[in-house]
Amino acid sequence: MTRSDPGTPSRDGAPVDFIREIVREDLASLKHAGRVVTRFPPEPNGYLHIGHAKSICLNFGVAAEFGGTCNLRFDDTNPATEEIEYVESIKDAVRWLGFDWDERLYHASDYFGELHDYAVQLTRLGKAYVDSLTADEIRDHRGTLTQPGKESPYRDRSVDENLDLFARMRAGEFPDGAHVLRAKIEMASPNLNMRDPVLYRIRRATHYRTGDRWCIYPMYDYAHPLSDAIEGITHSLCTLEFEDHRPLYDWVLDTLQIDPRPYQYEFARLNLTYTVMSKRKLLELVQGGHVNGWDDPRMPTLVGLRRRGYTPESIRTFCTLIGVARRENLVDVAMLEHAVREDLNRHAPRVMAVVRPLRVVIENYPDDLVEQMAVGNNPEDPSAGARLVPFSRVLYIEQDDFREDPPKKFFRLAPGREIRLRGAYFITCTRVVKNPAGGIEELRCTYDPATRGGAAPDGRKVKATLHWVSAAHALDAEVRVYDRLFTSENPAEEEEWLAHLNPASLDVLTACKVEPGMASARPGDRFQFERLGYFSVDPDSGASGTLVFNRTVGLRDPWARIDAAGKSERAATAR
Ligand code: ATP
Ligand code: MG
Repeated sequence: MTRSDPGTPSRDGAPVDFIREIVREDLASLKHAGRVVTRFPPEPNGYLHIGHAKSICLNFGVAAEFGGTCNLRFDDTNPATEEIEYVESIKDAVRWLGFDWDERLYHASDYFGELHDYAVQLTRLGKAYVDSLTADEIRDHRGTLTQPGKESPYRDRSVDENLDLFARMRAGEFPDGAHVLRAKIEMASPNLNMRDPVLYRIRRATHYRTGDRWCIYPMYDYAHPLSDAIEGITHSLCTLEFEDHRPLYDWVLDTLQIDPRPYQYEFARLNLTYTVMSKRKLLELVQGGHVNGWDDPRMPTLVGLRRRGYTPESIRTFCTLIGVARRENLVDVAMLEHAVREDLNRHAPRVMAVVRPLRVVIENYPDDLVEQMAVGNNPEDPSAGARLVPFSRVLYIEQDDFREDPPKKFFRLAPGREIRLRGAYFITCTRVVKNPAGGIEELRCTYDPATRGGAAPDGRKVKATLHWVSAAHALDAEVRVYDRLFTSENPAEEEEWLAHLNPASLDVLTACKVEPGMASARPGDRFQFERLGYFSVDPDSGASGTLVFNRTVGLRDPWARIDAAGKSERAATAR
């Protein structure tokens, strides 16, 4: 796997990629009579993750760009793993991302009747047969990549016998596993998927939609092309692991002479550094208690990212940025963080919060005075205006912003030094008060009344501007700071992927103080805490009287530099 380069959006910002190239050509040649119909086909067996967002943005995006439509289809052919809880969460996630399937909500299980009829038709054509080998025997007969498969002794059953057995399979006359219906293709095919793949198996399981109406269920590789055909899909976009299944996709449609028919195209799945993406692994993280549920803000699930404070816009931007290609790659998570940071920078109001408070007493400030200081809400957006923040004699600043014995290049507060408090005054530290154990208890400072608003009339400068809150007015808050969930760049490739969990992926700071305006903050609201990063209000907030914030992303953007370099490189090649 290679690290990815930024995608290549065209000059007007619309994405260009090989899929869109194919769609454009098909429209020009009228291959599908000028129609573009795509689908997003999740299996409802887990929550969607950021990889699914890539597929959603591609399928819905292509449809929108070319005047077509995109269906939402639940690929619910496996009764054992599917649940209604997942169905609802998937619908929520697609809507949250900003896409709409209108009335085109479908289920593969809607087609069980038709899929069954097609299977009868294949049997009648002599293209399918009932096999009575056990699952183990079928596996043994399948051969390997280097060895051809062996034909089943049941392969030459007559059409009538096959029709009779298949009807009795459906009627529930046989126990699970007694027989399967297989396609009759070619046991010596170099492609294992073409060695008489199983089309139907007997399975007594209650399906979340069809209940106990069926005891035979179709396999994915058989159901998928036909579901696409039934819905009039033109371009069936899937990930690369299905490339070897395409001959079977084509075989099903061509053998049944379905016309017009859909075509399958494969693209590389999204892999992201420092996380895992398979639903099975995500389930293991949840069930093993390694995270606090599917919506844990450290999870790459869409519910997790949402809770963390990611915006749908930023995820869509990210999907455009990474582009769509056939080459497998590993995308730097910094690129995703870059996208959310850029979005929040434009839209998130600035507020002041102190996560590790240090008490500061302004000795020459009147005891009973409270001044309302006007502080700008967003330098990136002048229309966002300013708010009033109360200032008083006792404040909190960040512990990190003071050093009793400042090293070189530390320009923040230190004994005898003057700094600016954002939107308020210049203050000078005059004394450090310690507790008996020698720890710093509070700072004693003086302020210069002439510097109100943060500028000195005599023009003298200070080297730092610190954020602060008024102790008497501040609200208590808990701040949850997240780091990468794994310490390995690609945990899925590690032998013991769970051994690479980052033990320090969550840091809960419980003694935080935020400015009083945050009393009206609601779950999901997003802010920039000045100098600290971007934060969103957690759904837990307010429950115990304390505000709870999640750190969405820090302020530093290592990707901005890389992206800028990429842009100039792309500009250079365009010239
Ligand atoms: P996983 O392998 O994570 O369990 P899946 O492929 O089994 O996912 P589905 O519900 O079958 O999950 O996926 C629905 C659609 O999303 C499919 O078309 C699939 O190809 C696509 N998809 C899944 N994971 C990714 C990914 N990482 N990048 C891009 N598309 C993906
Ligand atoms: Mg799947």
